[in-house]
Amino acid sequence: MDKKQQPKVLIVIFGATGDLAKRKLFPSIYRLYQNGAIGEDFAVVGLARRSWTNDVFRDNVNNSISHSLSTDDNLDAFTSHFYYHPFDVTDDASYQDLGSLLNDLEGVYETDGNRIFYLAMAPNFFGTIANKLNTFGLKGSTGWSRLVIEKPFGHDLASAKELNNQIREAFDEKQIYRIDHYLGKEMVQNIEVIRFANGIFEHLWNNRFISNIQVTSSEAIGVEDRSRYYDHSGATRDMAQNHMLQMVALLAMEPPINLSTEEIRSEKIKVLRALRQIDDTMVDDYFVRGQYGHGKINGKYIKGYREEAEDLVDSNTETFVAGKIMIDNYRWAGVPFYIRTGKRLEGKSTKIVVEFKDIPMNLFYETNEERQPNLLTINIQPNEGITLRLNAKKSGVGSMAKPIDLDYNNENVHGINTPEAYEKLLYGCMIGDATNFTHWDEVALSWKFIDSILNVWTDQKATFPNYEAGSMGPKAAHELLEKDGFHWWPTTED
Ligand code: NAP
Repeated sequence: MDKKQQPKVLIVIFGATGDLAKRKLFPSIYRLYQNGAIGEDFAVVGLARRSWTNDVFRDNVNNSISHSLSTDDNLDAFTSHFYYHPFDVTDDASYQDLGSLLNDLEGVYETDGNRIFYLAMAPNFFGTIANKLNTFGLKGSTGWSRLVIEKPFGHDLASAKELNNQIREAFDEKQIYRIDHYLGKEMVQNIEVIRFANGIFEHLWNNRFISNIQVTSSEAIGVEDRSRYYDHSGATRDMAQNHMLQMVALLAMEPPINLSTEEIRSEKIKVLRALRQIDDTMVDDYFVRGQYGHGKINGKYIKGYREEAEDLVDSNTETFVAGKIMIDNYRWAGVPFYIRTGKRLEGKSTKIVVEFKDIPMNLFYETNEERQPNLLTINIQPNEGITLRLNAKKSGVGSMAKPIDLDYNNENVHGINTPEAYEKLLYGCMIGDATNFTHWDEVALSWKFIDSILNVWTDQKATFPNYEAGSMGPKAAHELLEKDGFHWWPTTED
């Protein structure tokens, strides 16, 4: 890569001894270094309370990278850019010391005063850190300063507003990069390309030709050691408010006039503004919640959610949510967007299925029920790719039809090694491209929609557990589509 394009940057990671830094951030920064996206003009300062030295920190960075990636001879050279500074985010004196360390490193690594402050910490610290960075002059360096914030961004609209106000006292909206790591995934970014670069789809991408769109994100894992966080959050806050609604916005948005951050965001915001708000009395007609009981996954016995930890015995938290979302605009009037996501489901998979309307007359199947609609499936994970289901002639005599699938799988393409979501997002932040980060207006509109569902659910005790571990969620999630004459794809026969 041309050296001139390599960003010069000092990355300050708050929570550098934590899980996210270890599993995602260090390997991603290494990949950027390995493939030349960043050169030698960078340094990383890790902050957390424990009293590590630079050497201990570098060993940890080294281990986390060697554990997840194949490495080159340059690993030691890479980790020599890492510095550790014991730090309590609530303590003013810590910020004063940090200022002089950052100034020194900027001199050594010639990073032009460009700083990324990455908050890989519990969200209750976000406001404090942002304000102290401002008060102690750490964001006022000679270059640019950007603040990267992890999810969750608030617990509901009111708390998200409060958090946003705190952060905005110190940083402008343009300096704030709110992570939704789904937006860094290759196939999520591919939604725009598939839609806007292909006449055969975009011309049909509306309520005249599409009957419904389904977005499923299933996990086979349970809450693992995150039960305290998860029980306070649940599937709707953890997945639907952010990742699922972001995918819906990308699927439903109008073509932007260009690919700039502002234009893409503005189209997504219009979709979120057009979400049909659900009246209190109608929540159960549009949304279904579930919690897993015991069951089996891959032949192995799995405990129910309430058995996973002592304080979950009478939990009312949903580990599954499915919903029907209507977008009240000209393009989508009458087309349901169904979403579903949950834990301890059949397997790990994220996919989008676009179901096209049937042709008016059945010529090639014995009965109307046997007819198969055209489907466009976008596989986000684990197998990245696209499948287009068409009808073709059954070979042999007669003129009966059968469904056939045209498959494209990213992994089968020689040489493709798709970058990790965090790698692309970090690089986006370094070059000032906020397209794949969420704007405050998107966060606020998503919370407004989700609050209308959760406000009702919080007041009503659910009948849990209502689905078996290893299934695809409660019966009501299937009935949600059946009453509209649809069913979830793929079916068990697929
Ligand atoms: P974690 O493993 O619990 O790490 C928390 C970090 O904060 C540790 O480095 C801890 O180190 C540090 N810390 C705690 N109190 C501190 C204080 N007063 N001053 C300075 N440092 C302090 O959490 P995580 O899983 O990495 O998650 C971090 C953030 O990312 C959260 O917002 C989470 O929701 C989000 N997130 C995580 C994941 C993931 O896969 N882990 C995925 C999506 C989003 P010390 O104890 O040494 O101080």
